[in-house]
Amino acid sequence: MNLALWLERAGHAHPAAPAIALGAKVHADYATLAGKAARIAGAMRAAGMKPGDRVAIVAKNHPDYIAILYGLWHAGLAAVPANARLHGAELGYILEHSGARICFASSGIDTEISAHAPKSLERLIAVGSPEYERVLSADAIAVTPRDGDDLAWLFYTSGTTGRPKGAMLTHRNLNWAAHAYLADVDPALPGDPILHAAPLSHGSGIYVMPHIARLGVNVIPESGAFEPDEIFRLFARWPRMSMFAAPTMIKRLVDSPAECDPHNIRTLIWGGAPMYVEDVKKALDRFGPRLAQIYGQGESPMTISTLSKEDVAARDHPRWLDRVGSAGRAYACVEVRVGDAEGRALEPGEIGEILCRGDVVMAGYWQNPDASASTLKDGWLHTGDVGAFDGEGYLTLKDRSKDMIISGGSNVYPREVEEVLLQHDKVREVSVIGRPDQEWGEVVVAYVVGDAASGELDALCLSRIARFKRPKHYVFVDALPKNNYGKILKTDLRRLDAEQKEKAVG
Ligand code: AMP
Repeated sequence: MNLALWLERAGHAHPAAPAIALGAKVHADYATLAGKAARIAGAMRAAGMKPGDRVAIVAKNHPDYIAILYGLWHAGLAAVPANARLHGAELGYILEHSGARICFASSGIDTEISAHAPKSLERLIAVGSPEYERVLSADAIAVTPRDGDDLAWLFYTSGTTGRPKGAMLTHRNLNWAAHAYLADVDPALPGDPILHAAPLSHGSGIYVMPHIARLGVNVIPESGAFEPDEIFRLFARWPRMSMFAAPTMIKRLVDSPAECDPHNIRTLIWGGAPMYVEDVKKALDRFGPRLAQIYGQGESPMTISTLSKEDVAARDHPRWLDRVGSAGRAYACVEVRVGDAEGRALEPGEIGEILCRGDVVMAGYWQNPDASASTLKDGWLHTGDVGAFDGEGYLTLKDRSKDMIISGGSNVYPREVEEVLLQHDKVREVSVIGRPDQEWGEVVVAYVVGDAASGELDALCLSRIARFKRPKHYVFVDALPKNNYGKILKTDLRRLDAEQKEKAVG
């Protein structure tokens, strides 16, 4: 079925229910949102777009983002939501690779794109422009029927290594992702709000669908940015609101001096990167039992495993520390396995690659048969993440295989060292990498934001972890390299480290 049906039905059945809010104000009810989507669909049809054609959205979070997304689905088209903060050349690559003929862009970003627009792009429509207004005044059409296997969203990976790949997410995939969220993470009630402070082109966008299905209010911050003061004000304005955020964003909320009454918060969902145990403790102190975690990737959108609010909050449980350091248990709708090199299931406690199979797993990578074949084998998604199950089904992620350090023949998982260093109260952020070394193969190097003395950090490591795991060098920096989603870029850090070393030698 076409995902757009949820919105069309809501527009008929609950026309006056608020659907979109801009800050504190209702921006559109369900009738208005559904009507807008049907007219955008009409404009796409009139422009000659056929079911399956791709249309890109390169926009900051905006109240019309959701109308455009649903308008594309309504017309049977595939959406290509790209990160608005990418460089024009990167956006040009995504536009060309996806073959998008039309692109909706925030005003300002359209000029950035036009400098790099590929020949295949026929129209660049700036949201709010006269051309956009003409799109909104087209005649509405009925929802175009779609099968579960039809492409709904080309999800370009963040491309921390090499060119981004387009994970093909079908209507079935997104339907399952929406139900999985409601069943296993956050059972939203009709009318419950969700705050889209993180980019709609990525994780937050995946949480639009369950909230449309449940007649929720999609709240867009007016600032268009991640501002703790504004976010706290919106929690007060919209009680029972949930939000998805990367761990670095949750950390900013925890550290903010602004006032926040946590009772208004339904669920703060973190994911996309590890959250250190010390940070979880601080978040629990500040927000109470309202935190949940999800582990997923674009290829199985937001849906591989989840750690429930109850598990996060159960501080008295004898295994709480292990559990809160894990990524939780498999969602009901997927099989998750830790596999050996041949993909055979390993026993609890054994470390291997995390594999995942189910209706939420992508159909493959767009126009990339080699990457599709090496990532999807017998229906199993090879995530590239390394981890282990415990006997109770909790999945602990180690680092991605390329981030693991091999020093003197022993494996060192950076996260384990990072967890220890963060226990020092003068360490704000830390990232541990391997530096090539003639004697050891690699040595452990810690990049630290904070002003702890390296002797103290060394003593802390000696008291908690094996000697060979402790960093040989500490580098104190003002900030760590991060991508637009707030993920620490270890590849960049390794490159910077190599450049620094060269400078020191030269
Ligand atoms: P992306 O496709 O850009 O969302 O990146 C997905 C990757 O982020 C996964 O393959 C993991 O390496 C990492 N990731 C996602 N969720 C978590 C989590 N809860 N804890 C640790 N790493 C995560």
